[in-house]
Amino acid sequence: MRFVDLIESKKSGDSLTPDEIRRAIAAYVDGDVPDYQMAALLMAIRWRGLADSETVALTEAMVASGDRYDLDDIGGTLVDKHSTGGVGDKVSLILAPLAAAAGCTVPMVSGRGLGHTGGTLDKLESIPGLRTDLSATAFRDQLQHIGVAMGSQTETLVPADRRLYALRDVTGTVDDTGLITASILSKKIAEGAHALVLDVKVGRGAFFHRLEDARELADRIVAVASGSGLRCSALLTAMDQPLGHTIGNALEVAESIDVLCGGGPADLRTVTIELAAEMLQLGGIVDDPDRALRKATECLDSGAAAERFELLVQAQDGDPRVLSNTGLLPAATHRCSLHPPRSGYITGLDARAIGQAGVSLRAGRNTQDDVLDLGAGIELHAKCGDQVDVDSAWVTLHQGPAADVDHATELVQAALTVSTSPNDQRPLIREKRP
Ligand code: URA
Repeated sequence: MRFVDLIESKKSGDSLTPDEIRRAIAAYVDGDVPDYQMAALLMAIRWRGLADSETVALTEAMVASGDRYDLDDIGGTLVDKHSTGGVGDKVSLILAPLAAAAGCTVPMVSGRGLGHTGGTLDKLESIPGLRTDLSATAFRDQLQHIGVAMGSQTETLVPADRRLYALRDVTGTVDDTGLITASILSKKIAEGAHALVLDVKVGRGAFFHRLEDARELADRIVAVASGSGLRCSALLTAMDQPLGHTIGNALEVAESIDVLCGGGPADLRTVTIELAAEMLQLGGIVDDPDRALRKATECLDSGAAAERFELLVQAQDGDPRVLSNTGLLPAATHRCSLHPPRSGYITGLDARAIGQAGVSLRAGRNTQDDVLDLGAGIELHAKCGDQVDVDSAWVTLHQGPAADVDHATELVQAALTVSTSPNDQRPLIREKRP
């Protein structure tokens, strides 16, 4: 098989066979296919789409590119959560320790920033010393001892996703249902999870803006997961404006610590608690939705989730003092506050533009080799429904020397809509699938 024939075939709209997909992924991981050819295939897939059978074959080929953990002897149901990608979406940082404190075992293999959206691994790595490249033994030990581990794809765990994810990030090939499905599920199947709660983001800052497209993504992931024996349900949650008040790695860790310590923004807390309740039900810890919500809330408010986060930071070689002193996190060298063009109510805050502004500030990547500024990002002092005044800052940019501040400023100011009266906002939890 010549790789160029596969590209031609997909470009013409043909379906690839499972064998072609398996060989293509294996050849890419072995270094026999250059990035430019794989990028061309990804773009052909992005335009032509993957049939269900191709998505299943791609998921299986990606799992087979590395080891598959068998954690069944740990006991109980291993439940994970994954988001399809949002702006200011730091939910996993709070949710993983929260679900563990409430009785789940959470083997979480996460991703890095993708396109204009942030990634859990980049956020976690802004905690001084913290490692995400956990060996199989360290991952298992941690699950046995503290019930939660948060790691990355490695050279031995879904290496295909590790490479494809980085390539999709910088080639405009993220927003494809089949590619997202295979990327998410390959990690979850390989890590040994038994059940998965999906947070499918929908809105301007998500990869899918329309409810029907987000639904299609959710249904496809749930179907492929179920076919692989992974129990799965999905919440569709709003991503029109950023979640919480911060965008950027260390800033988001600090905000997550606020929530773990009983404070933080209401929208972030609500989405986290709803997803935790879903994990508790899917994991068989609690069978009634109201009791699940109550248990999740109690574990957050009692400090149990914060204690579990501290154990996780310690276990992964991070500095646990960040929980009581977020000043230990990396900080940007400069700050710049912006005022709104007029006074009034915020009626729109385009999450995608804000996410792109974060990338201009170096909180995300433009190319595979970009080095992140972990302290860089955006702090929103007001969100939709809030009143703003021309004489007060509505947002602060946190930036270092490599930032393109002019571009970030343009994007952030263009993201803002101010009107004379407030408008209705969509509910945070749009719907549940199936
Ligand atoms: N999260 C992933 O792990 N992969 C994607 O493609 C999108 C979100």
